[in-house]
Amino acid sequence: MRSTIKLGKISGIEIGLHYSWFIIAALIALSLGEHFHQVYPNWSPAKIWISALITAALFFVTLLLHELAHSLVAQKHGLRISGITLFALGGVSQMQDDPTDAKTEFSVAIAGPVASLIIGFACLGIAMGLGWHRPNEPLTAVTAVLVWLGYINILLAIFNMIPGFPLDGGRVLRSIIWAVTKNPDRSTRIAAGVGQVVALLFIVDGIWQFFHGAGFGGLWMVFIGWFLMDAAKASYAQVGVSEELRGIRVSDIMSRDCIAVNRGMSLQNFVDSYLLTTSQRCYAVEDQGRLLGIITPRDVSKIPRDRWEQTTVSEAMRPLKELHMVSPDTPVLDALKLMARNDVNQLPVVAQGSLQGIVSRSQIVQLLQVRAALRLPVAYRPPAELNGRNEFDVRSMSEMLSRHSKV
Ligand SMILES: [Zn+2]
Repeated sequence: MRSTIKLGKISGIEIGLHYSWFIIAALIALSLGEHFHQVYPNWSPAKIWISALITAALFFVTLLLHELAHSLVAQKHGLRISGITLFALGGVSQMQDDPTDAKTEFSVAIAGPVASLIIGFACLGIAMGLGWHRPNEPLTAVTAVLVWLGYINILLAIFNMIPGFPLDGGRVLRSIIWAVTKNPDRSTRIAAGVGQVVALLFIVDGIWQFFHGAGFGGLWMVFIGWFLMDAAKASYAQVGVSEELRGIRVSDIMSRDCIAVNRGMSLQNFVDSYLLTTSQRCYAVEDQGRLLGIITPRDVSKIPRDRWEQTTVSEAMRPLKELHMVSPDTPVLDALKLMARNDVNQLPVVAQGSLQGIVSRSQIVQLLQVRAALRLPVAYRPPAELNGRNEFDVRSMSEMLSRHSKV
């Protein structure tokens, strides 16, 4: 979900609105108008629609508070949050780090439903104070709005506590299994498995309702079920990848033979003598040994071809300050997440200010493919003395020789 409207920042967390939100906001306002029209037939159309719009806007605020609760608790536990995005099916908090222990996972997951529950009961409490449930007294618009918000937030808390990963309830379930089994991967697999069952129930129930007259409501259930199924499957698959990549560092797979080109070289020259004559896709641009940035075919393609002669590689490159970099010690899994988050295919590997190599998505995919082709168990790693080196160093070589001679 990339294309969002940015609304501002709260506690350093970027708040974004995905376009799909507007469809759902319109639907909510429409069905609220319908609801108010039926329950309060003596209201004027203007009163009905203004109340409906205000309620839809306040519902948006309570959804945001639900996500903020997740994010603020996560921040409190030292996890970095890049943003919150509200979309058609609710909100998501984009966490940069995963919870490192079961207790943190539990606190972060439960915070949202707890916030919704508090908001729900607070709305109903205020409505009560304003005369809701008092006999012989017509309900004011303010009270009617508060009652609806109260119920919807309590429903939201209950819905989110359904134990289908990646719903909040599924995360709570995962944290409990994690605490019991001490195995985060297994707990994700179990929680994602339960999530798929829950998603299937949603779909079956939605289809059943659709054929028994629920119409749009039934289709909506199918849609939510389908979305949950997708997310649960993705979580399940991700565990496999993170198990395969655990403990592998960027230095284990990065390409070290990174070719550097001089900053003054023209794009035409660069294309002819490098891009079209070598298999490498990514080049360092340097100035007397100092790294300035990197350049890839994607950067070249942004410059019109008739300007390749006049444009230098340093004008077309992505400068260092715009690049996300990793160090040789960065876990490959973190590098992969960084690439996914920033929508790039490679990252420069830098240590003490100098370029050590390039790590790319395709290298990681190749590693996974080789491991799959060799049918290696997920936990298999090369011996420690080889791990972390593409070239043998003298010591490990002599160690191997001495071991060999003993046999
Ligand atoms: Zn939540």
